[in-house]
Amino acid sequence: MTPRAVVLLYHRLSDRPLDADEGDYVLPPSLFEEQVRSLAAGRTPVVSLACLAEGRYRDGSVALTFDDGCDSDAAVAGPLLAALGLPAAFFVNPALIGTEGRAGWDDLRSLAARGFTIGSHGLDHTLLDGLSPSELERQVAGSKREIEERLGRPVDALSLPGGTGGERARRLAHAAGYRLVLGSRPGALRGKPGDTVLPRFALRRGQELDGFRAAVARERLFVLRQQARYALTLAGRGLLGTTRYARLRGRLARAERRC
Ligand SMILES: [Zn+2]
Repeated sequence: MTPRAVVLLYHRLSDRPLDADEGDYVLPPSLFEEQVRSLAAGRTPVVSLACLAEGRYRDGSVALTFDDGCDSDAAVAGPLLAALGLPAAFFVNPALIGTEGRAGWDDLRSLAARGFTIGSHGLDHTLLDGLSPSELERQVAGSKREIEERLGRPVDALSLPGGTGGERARRLAHAAGYRLVLGSRPGALRGKPGDTVLPRFALRRGQELDGFRAAVARERLFVLRQQARYALTLAGRGLLGTTRYARLRGRLARAERRC
């Protein structure tokens, strides 16, 4: 049987967002701790991205990823995961490293030294749809070069900012030397990823532990609901364009926070 794995997507771990745009993607550290401890207690295999890339994983495996290079990567996630012996990957924007609420280069060096994967999330989190060829190259390949120079390590995984860029960004990423390209489409990985964009489940504050367990177990209803929500997002983006979509998403996040 071809094994399946789930890639989980986290953002900031904090009791409150840095700004309204972060919305419900910000998880309290206590909830995150409960989630990862339940993985360790349930003997769920937690695997590195390298294992996924090579198709070396057991069915039901989980990989942990963090987007946006938040300061909680180093302050919260790294120490806890290291204590539990769990691998993870942190995707960062080199142009934003060390700015307010983001991890610094020294933080990333120490995460890498502890065995965590550091990947690119684009140069400055510009959404990749509709970029000129040179700007797309700067975001995808330029960000890889900069992180490699600053950390002195190869960077072989890219997380598409906002899940954007599609097949065009994926092709360029693989041509630039990335082994893995991760998106935001909810779903499970099956076998070896090859030349595809890996699906992921984004964790949201409101899902609490139940949503987390449903994602890890790939519960059918949960998966369908997440995919429907994602399709709606894509439709909105197609109708509105990515810039207006990003603005709308920010407004929605602010509205949700007020409720
Ligand atoms: Zn992001």
